[in-house]
Amino acid sequence: MPTNSHAHHAIDTASYARAAREAVFQAAAVCRAVQARLDDLRAITKDDKSPVTIADFASQAVVARVLQEHLGDSLVLVGEEGSAYLRQPEHAPHLAAALEAARIVWPEATEEEFLAAIDVGDAEPTGDHCYWTLDPIDGTKGFLRGQQYAVALAWLDHGVPAVGAMACPNLPIAHDAPLDKVDTHGSIYLSVAGEGTLEAPLSDTKADATRILRSDVPDGQPVSACMSVEKAHSSTDDTARVMERVGPAREPARLDSQCKYAVVARGQADVYLRLPTKKGYVERIWDHAAGALVATEAGCVVSDAAGLPLDFTHGKGLERNRGIVCAPAGVHTRVVKAIQELGLLD
Ligand code: AMP
Ligand code: MG
Repeated sequence: MPTNSHAHHAIDTASYARAAREAVFQAAAVCRAVQARLDDLRAITKDDKSPVTIADFASQAVVARVLQEHLGDSLVLVGEEGSAYLRQPEHAPHLAAALEAARIVWPEATEEEFLAAIDVGDAEPTGDHCYWTLDPIDGTKGFLRGQQYAVALAWLDHGVPAVGAMACPNLPIAHDAPLDKVDTHGSIYLSVAGEGTLEAPLSDTKADATRILRSDVPDGQPVSACMSVEKAHSSTDDTARVMERVGPAREPARLDSQCKYAVVARGQADVYLRLPTKKGYVERIWDHAAGALVATEAGCVVSDAAGLPLDFTHGKGLERNRGIVCAPAGVHTRVVKAIQELGLLD
């Protein structure tokens, strides 16, 4: 049940959670269909040199459309993608392919409706209001490798993640299955602030959702980390130095996307560690809002690498934060202490 401080949002969060779940579910169906014929798929390189695919655009359009159907046209959505690229005449083949992908779940979509749906996501975030943030495909590099990725959607109430939905289409539902093998049944996570995190198989819509609750690791027991596959996104060397200090450790598990938050929440790794590889990189809100709530509501602590809470009130970037530490409380304290002692943020 919602606590008193959430009472004025009690109705909103329940219907928002239903809308969010349906939105990432539909978008995941599109992503899966595109990933299944990956050979035909080429990455498009954005201005910031990061890759995007037709599925990123289709996923954003589908999420926007489902949210609008459930919640009306006034919704504020901050999505990672925009339609500018697809609107350029020379990119017509990409537009056609992206629209075809979206039509898997939105058969009657016209080109204009499709582009307009992508642009629903062009809102600017503010700490003074409530907004949705979406990563239509988080871990695009993993998606292109045929590996892990997530469709991650969160609703923030004045800068505080309050509803989070995350579809992980290749993440096995079995908590002991290897993470480097994809399981196309997938998993889905749904969290509401104050009400916990639910996990369900993505492909089986009739299966019951299970509440996940993370327990801590007793001192002296081995602690396992998970981190990015991409070496540019998190420092491998610094992670090894931190884990050596924290205690006996295995090689960190490497997987793409904010699935990592779910992997810690469900107990398959003990810490998600993201240590900056270069000064000045600012984490994006859509890379963390949904996943951080999934982990927090399962009983984990999420902070930046200095131990500070994530601050979602500074636009599209976590301007006040550097790096990420997500772990159950005891492990979290030990990891943040190790980062400090090693002077990794100096
Ligand atoms: P991961 O799947 O953990 O490798 O994270 C993917 C995300 O890393 C992408 O969505 C990007 O927004 C983000 N990213 C891109 N460049 C960097 C960087 N230099 N450091 C940290 N994260 C980055
Ligand atoms: Mg991302």
